[in-house]
This record gives sequence, structure tokens and C-alpha cells, in this order.
Amino acid sequence: MLVVEDEAAIADLLRMYLAREGYGVHVERDGRGGLAAARSLKPVAIVLDVGLPEMDGTEVCRRLRADDDWVPVLFCTARDDEIDRVLGLELGADDYITKPFSPREVVARVKTVLRRVDGPPTASAPLVIGGVSVDRVTHRVTVDSVEVELTATEFDLLERLMRAPGRVFSREQLLSEVWGYAAVVGTRTVDVHVAQVRAKLGAASPIRTVRGVGYSAEARGAAP
Ligand code: CA
Repeated sequence: MLVVEDEAAIADLLRMYLAREGYGVHVERDGRGGLAAARSLKPVAIVLDVGLPEMDGTEVCRRLRADDDWVPVLFCTARDDEIDRVLGLELGADDYITKPFSPREVVARVKTVLRRVDGPPTASAPLVIGGVSVDRVTHRVTVDSVEVELTATEFDLLERLMRAPGRVFSREQLLSEVWGYAAVVGTRTVDVHVAQVRAKLGAASPIRTVRGVGYSAEARGAAP
């Protein structure tokens, strides 16, 4: 776990509480150091202050996302204008928490953010959301135990979304992750394939359209 926080008292508290939860914690005190640590240490999640010397927390996150690094980030904001900046990132922010916060609150939020982390792509356990099960060993998809035939691309698309439940993917991200960097197709292709997967899965489909952003997979009723 990487904590980037310039206020020593808060950084110490975060380190103590997160360590008590069993996380290994590395602390950086400014944005530039935080970005370097994120790139070199590859933390499972980052608790990132917005108001930082050297480089703003939102800029740290923006640069990580530009690297295609989607490490979960929990932003700590002290002021309304900072919250606006975090919200302005759209895809950049997994979550934010406003100061003053209790360390217990931070720990709870970190756990929430971590639950959204991707499982390893090679993991063999089936992915299950509601009645839909994706078996990554046999490449079989079932709805309420009845097998559904998906094309290889449809399978990859569904698997990618279900591997990170609740995470919102832009069409561009899905194109690069499912079709590959050399894809010559446009983002409309993503919409077409999502529609095909939905048609095949019927009412059990976990794919949600996030207007103006893209798609996510989650259980029905899990989020507004
Ligand atoms: Ca600060």
C-alpha cells in the first residue's frame, strides 16, 4: 500500500492503521516521490492526498492512468475545490474521502477500493455475478447453469468486465484490452459486441451502461 501524504501526523496515523490491518505501507511526502514510488513499487492501492508539494495528487493519478496503470486510488481531499478536481478526473478516481477523517474510515474505504481490484488474469476460479458464471479454464459461460455460446471476442469482453466488478471501462480501454493495441476497429464495435453479449445472456446480463463513460459489470441492484 502506498500512502502519499505531506502532513506527517496524518501519514503516521495512516501507516499505523493500515499496518495494523496487515498491509505493508510505504509513505511518500510529495507528489513527485509518490509518482515514482507508484511506478517502481507497484502498490496494490494508493491513498493519495490531493494537496501535495511538487505535484498535485490529481496530477499523480493522471500520469499513472496515462501509463495505463489502473491501480485503485483513494483520494484524500481537504477542500471543496479539491473534491471538484477529483471528480473532474472522471475515470481517474476510484473513491475519495474528505478530511478530517478517522483512520478507521480510511481503512474501511481502502478495503472497499481493494474489493474492486482485478483478480490476476490467469486465475482459474470462475467469475460469477448473479446467475452468470464465466469459467476461464474451459472458456464456458453459463446462465443459471445453462451453457451459452459466446464468440471468442464476446467471451474476452465479458471476462474483462467481470474480472473487475464495478470498475467502469471506457470504450477505448475495452478496445485496447480486448481487441489489442493493433485493433483497427472503432469504439462502435464495442457497443455492438456488448449488445450481442447482452442478447445472449438475457436478463441475467451483468453489463451496465455508464452514460457518457462506458461499461461495467456488476450485480443487479448493486449500484444506482
Ligand atoms: Ca496535503
